[in-house]
Amino acid sequence: MSGIKELLRHYDGFDFDAFFNNLTLKDVDRVLAKDRLVPEDYLTLLSPVAVGRLEEMAQRAQADTIKHFGRTIQLFAPIYVSNYCINTCVYCGFNHDNEFARRHLSLDEVDKEARVISQMGLKHILLLTGEHPTKSTVHYMGDCVRVLKRYFSCISVEVYALTEAEYRQLIEAGVDGMTMYQEVYQKDLYRPLHPSGPKKDYLFRLDAPERACQAGMRTVTLGALLGLAPWRQESFFTGLHAAYLQSRYPAADIQVAPPRLRPCHGGFQAISPVSDADLVQYILAYRIFMPHSGITVSTRERSELRDQLIRLGVTRMSAGVSTAVGGYSDKKEEGQFELADERGVEEIRMMLKNNGYQPVFQDWHYL
Ligand code: SF4
Repeated sequence: MSGIKELLRHYDGFDFDAFFNNLTLKDVDRVLAKDRLVPEDYLTLLSPVAVGRLEEMAQRAQADTIKHFGRTIQLFAPIYVSNYCINTCVYCGFNHDNEFARRHLSLDEVDKEARVISQMGLKHILLLTGEHPTKSTVHYMGDCVRVLKRYFSCISVEVYALTEAEYRQLIEAGVDGMTMYQEVYQKDLYRPLHPSGPKKDYLFRLDAPERACQAGMRTVTLGALLGLAPWRQESFFTGLHAAYLQSRYPAADIQVAPPRLRPCHGGFQAISPVSDADLVQYILAYRIFMPHSGITVSTRERSELRDQLIRLGVTRMSAGVSTAVGGYSDKKEEGQFELADERGVEEIRMMLKNNGYQPVFQDWHYL
């Protein structure tokens, strides 16, 4: 397999700085006048020179979003069921080497958490676990999904990279979406950030979204963790990956998320910081490149910024979130990272309505 690997190989040694330095505002205008963009056009919109056309990009992105999605924002919440992990991702609070009291939910505890989340009115849930050979098996995930089905109509997973057969197992249990952050697309930068554990296998992770598509996953969300590597390249590779999968698997709904690093246990600091303006430029450029593709923004972002982003291309937001295992029933538990937007579902719902947007709790039901 690994079509995406071949595609990324085209850019081995590509001189991004030289590409950016050769651009002028006329190149950006030429791209904005096109109906359909090719990858180099997308890279042009990600360039430093395109900052001079952010207003025009915002208008185009907003028009494209309304055309394809209306004024709607889908709402969901994550449920963390286990924070045991054998990986040592240096930027993560759940890193194996970080010492804190770990938790692994029994199925009764999953039921209790699910009930609390569903009482907030949400119908879409994202199941997360760390990677552990006995604590977070695919069998356990399947059992969790069967519990979640009692409360939710749409269940996605954000778990470690699985085989195609394992994705099929989860689909049979009731999963219809998966999120896979490559974290870092630039291979030489990936290695030192993932020094040990199965996740150090860059290619197995890179191919995971394609295996999920082959298994028949309905929605696949991709992303790089912004702050680990130069954001323009990472955003470009994420977009390439999404475009590749969407053209190869037209029945799948390929989406992206642009998470930025947040403070967490262990105190890791961003290597390549990403400003609010950078994040906005990424979202605008991606929306124009992939007008049909969903974009998720999580509670890693501040409420004021999230409120602005709904007009610029975002289609899905988390709400009422806890990133702690058992954190909805027990507020004292420590989360994977600090939240920047702690508003509840009702507050988000009202904010959307006040801005003329419809909160979507499930694909076919508007409230
Ligand atoms: S990012 Fe995921 S795999 Fe890496 S240490 Fe954290 S929980 Fe484990």
